[in-house]
Amino acid sequence: MPELPEVEVTRRRLERELVGSRFKQVVLRVKKLRLPVPADLEQALSGRMVRAIGRRGKYLLFDCEVGWLLVHLGMTGFLRLLRGSPPPEKHDHIDFVFDDGQLLRFHDPRKFGIVDWFTGDPQLHLLLAGIGPEPLERGFDGEYLFGVTRGRKVAVKQLIMNSAVVAGVGNIYANEALFHARIRPDRPAGDLALKECVKLAATICNVLEVSIGEGVAFMVAEETVAYYPQTFEVYGRGGKPCRGCKGHLEETRLGGRSTVFCRDCQK
Ligand SMILES: [Zn+2]
Repeated sequence: MPELPEVEVTRRRLERELVGSRFKQVVLRVKKLRLPVPADLEQALSGRMVRAIGRRGKYLLFDCEVGWLLVHLGMTGFLRLLRGSPPPEKHDHIDFVFDDGQLLRFHDPRKFGIVDWFTGDPQLHLLLAGIGPEPLERGFDGEYLFGVTRGRKVAVKQLIMNSAVVAGVGNIYANEALFHARIRPDRPAGDLALKECVKLAATICNVLEVSIGEGVAFMVAEETVAYYPQTFEVYGRGGKPCRGCKGHLEETRLGGRSTVFCRDCQK
């Protein structure tokens, strides 16, 4: 499932290739993904130029002069950048054709993605209005985290995965950040001291930045916006040796999501 770094890497690549290009045609092969796809998408986009591509949490926001194209990759969504008009394959649901010969193709086997068009202030869009601060921007730090955790009994891992608290931190990076901050994922959020909140906010930023850096380095001139190889400390490593001590990583479930931690390294 794409998390903030994957979406950010996609954004940077698409921004490099598509800013200045104009939409010529939109081919819809589905009526609905997680939400209905606007039937008049072609009418709205045709002739419009991509001025910029932004991101809010895990949403991509294409600035199209008079409105916004919003894309969320859901669980399995994927944006391929192609040239010409290669025949669509299975699960290739939407084609955005540009006047310079580029083709942006939305592929999504599980159809949990979102493609929407709207005008007006993106901050007010129903899907974006409730999203908390961006972890890599001002407004997210230890003091903020300390403030929002006071009186909260929910496990700290679930809290940092709540997009109303901080944007875009999913299961992978929550596991990783808590390991690096040496905090047990099942601790009640309200029990964290200010010092721990400062450490956790810093490690969240760090794991996201390292990951974006790896992704950008791997972002070579190929047609596919790819996932990139990553080495995780805990995510996907339940039962394996901890890299911080001689113990073994434990795997449990918190809020229905796989949670891996080291009983000795994380307190
Ligand atoms: Zn350990």
